[in-house]
Amino acid sequence: MAPAKAPSAEPLTASAAAAATASLPAPEAIPESLPYESPEWHPAFEEYCETIFELAEDDVEVIQARIADRLDISRPAVSEMIRRMKAEGLVEDLRGTIQLTQKGHSLAETVVRRHRLAERFLTDMLGLSWAEAHQEAGKWEHIISPAVEEAMMKTLQQPTTCPHGNPIPGSAYEPPEMTPLNDLQVGQGFMVQRIPEELEFASGMLEFLEAARVTPGSTGVVIARSPDGTLTLEVDGDAVGLSSYATERILVTSASL
Ligand SMILES: [Zn+2]
Repeated sequence: MAPAKAPSAEPLTASAAAAATASLPAPEAIPESLPYESPEWHPAFEEYCETIFELAEDDVEVIQARIADRLDISRPAVSEMIRRMKAEGLVEDLRGTIQLTQKGHSLAETVVRRHRLAERFLTDMLGLSWAEAHQEAGKWEHIISPAVEEAMMKTLQQPTTCPHGNPIPGSAYEPPEMTPLNDLQVGQGFMVQRIPEELEFASGMLEFLEAARVTPGSTGVVIARSPDGTLTLEVDGDAVGLSSYATERILVTSASL
């Protein structure tokens, strides 16, 4: 009996494989089966809305050249994408300045919230470094579903900022009275509050600031200012030199030490 069964086993397997292949969705149907909240938005739209939101947040003029710099994309590609986003009603172009519409703004807030929440999760729960968390969160922000977002919020006990101190949109964040670190005089004490998104994109900056413990909640004092604008700080007993590019952007509150 056994030899008689053997030949029938092969056609069965083959037809099962054929059936399995036939039930796979066509490639273009795949995005619709993913649990995106807004399956109609391609990740590229999300990325651009997020970038425009963050440039405006950091008071950088939102023109196409800045978007190209931030995303490291050619200007013609940015210009084509902005044209498509205008057609979708996500942005407006006001004499060269790009502005999010209400629809674009709400998409941006969702993506930024998920990015900053993912960064918190990756650093606080998984122990990733700042720089790794920023990188990874750039992927997570496009796939986190509302249910996962809610569970992360709960597990992290309703955080109001990302690990770099940037506010999570929709959270109970209340900005303290902050000034750029560069405005401080020699001898003044400070507490680090916020490392703006612009610095998160400066190559090597997050690694440096984390290693030097120039992180939200750290306290220090300005000990010297050199003619080229470099500030020397004392943080946790160590001296740290920071360029004006960094000190003009890092936001601190004053602290008497
Ligand atoms: Zn961050």
